[in-house]
Amino acid sequence: SLKGRTALVTGSTSGIGLGIARLLAAAGAKVMLNGFGSPEEIAAARRAVAEVGAAEPPHSAADLSDPAQVRAMVAEAETALGQVDILVNNAGIQFTSRVEEFPDAKWDAIIAINLSSNFHASKAVLKGMQARGWGRIINIASAHGLVGSPEKVAYVAAKHGVVGMTKVIALEIAQTDVTCNAICPGFVRTPLAEKQVAALAEKHGVSEEVALKDFLLAKQPSKRWVEVDEVAHMALYLCGPGSGGVNGSALSIDGGWVAA
Ligand code: NAD
Repeated sequence: SLKGRTALVTGSTSGIGLGIARLLAAAGAKVMLNGFGSPEEIAAARRAVAEVGAAEPPHSAADLSDPAQVRAMVAEAETALGQVDILVNNAGIQFTSRVEEFPDAKWDAIIAINLSSNFHASKAVLKGMQARGWGRIINIASAHGLVGSPEKVAYVAAKHGVVGMTKVIALEIAQTDVTCNAICPGFVRTPLAEKQVAALAEKHGVSEEVALKDFLLAKQPSKRWVEVDEVAHMALYLCGPGSGGVNGSALSIDGGWVAA
């Protein structure tokens, strides 16, 4: 049980982050949400956590592309939750284009949100975790933290960076009860990935069903989506009993993608 533990999950108004926030809350943790959305969407996310947890979780609207807002979010979580025992760096965006046409602003935004925010948030929580003698940093990287794909230069660079940063933090805290690991999902059924199916269907003039099987899941030997709940269970494991020996790992959950 995670009773008495607190968790800050970034990008948790949708998709994988919301799934992780719900499962950690269901296990007894007090959580804080972060992420964009309309007031209705944010209220729905808070309700979705409250349904399985104890109380409506606080929400930080911090824009993680701004380091000052990342630090302010951690401070807000420390006030609202008392402390941050578990940090899940999950917020992320995607943009696809060949390098020659890749917009500079998209490169900067993806590096800021998908990579640098993980650094700033981890830096802000590490001292407290070590002082209290327990902590978990879980970075949601990607199969694209381990292998590349065309047209995803910023995303692949950022996710490889996340895996590298995970290793360095893990080495620095190796003799404590704080761990830092990366989860590397393949294609997970979320709004972020479903948008790519729609774009591929349009580009190739095929149905979304064909786009999913022939293009998106071409990389994923299982030929099925990984589900949000499966990723959430991997995060829960990393917070639970028996996980203390796992440190600096990049854990794949990708239907066999990087095994091929
Ligand atoms: P999603 O689009 O459903 O959710 C992304 C979340 O991040 C949302 O809550 C959004 O509001 C938030 N967010 C985006 N930009 C932000 C910003 N600047 N500041 C604060 N919050 C911001 O996406 P998802 O598929 O659940 O992705 C979550 C993470 O998992 C991402 O890091 C993504 O790269 C990674 N991932 C996803 C897949 C997949 O197939 N869906 C696969 C591997 C890795």
